[in-house]
Amino acid sequence: MNICPVCTNAAPFLDYRGRSAEICQDCSSLERTRSLFLCLLFTGHLKSYGTRDFRPIVHHFAPERSLYVRLSARHTNPNYFCYDFFPEIYAFAKEKISKHDLCDTQANQKLPLADVIIHNHVLEHLPVDWRRVLRELNSRLMPGGLQAITVPTRRGRFDEDLSDLPPEERKRRFAQEDHMRIFGDEDVIGMMAAEGMKPFRISHYLSPDLASVFGVKNSYDLDAAGRAGGSTVFYRENI
Ligand SMILES: [Zn+2]
Repeated sequence: MNICPVCTNAAPFLDYRGRSAEICQDCSSLERTRSLFLCLLFTGHLKSYGTRDFRPIVHHFAPERSLYVRLSARHTNPNYFCYDFFPEIYAFAKEKISKHDLCDTQANQKLPLADVIIHNHVLEHLPVDWRRVLRELNSRLMPGGLQAITVPTRRGRFDEDLSDLPPEERKRRFAQEDHMRIFGDEDVIGMMAAEGMKPFRISHYLSPDLASVFGVKNSYDLDAAGRAGGSTVFYRENI
């Protein structure tokens, strides 16, 4: 039996895109979604969650429905904002979502200061310096605020190419036709650390059994072994 920490549904997670027990039957959360939610929860950034006082200022890029429902407190949090370069593809968020280009420094600088900034598997798509985007978003954190992210990560080292590569070459090198880069477990922790982003040590918070129940066992095992993967959350708190 699994319990989804995002939606609290108790049912086995289903296999998804070749990964076993990956997707929640109710809210469609994936392991990285659940890991990120647990990071927000365990690092104390969801204060008043579940009460009427829950209204943190949130910037959520490429929003997942599961986190959208929770962080918007079912549309009662007036301070929840979500964005994408293609907002029209998010039918569930059509009244809330706006167009935002993370490559646009001026647009990033205009974002209101936030308590929580999150994005899952977004940086690999941006045809600009990903470090600059991270820095620009970190500069939009309130005192005490947090940016938390995940990035696709393979065995080996970071690879990137911003030139005009054919899509099939991008798929071969970066796992998808529209990826500009891919991170590697040999250097991602150091590269993120250089930007002040540290890995969320999920193995410090859960037992292996609970990690299995919550569907974050892969993140747990990698973390316990000192490695990172595509569900490893990196975060920075503006302290
Ligand atoms: Zn769920």
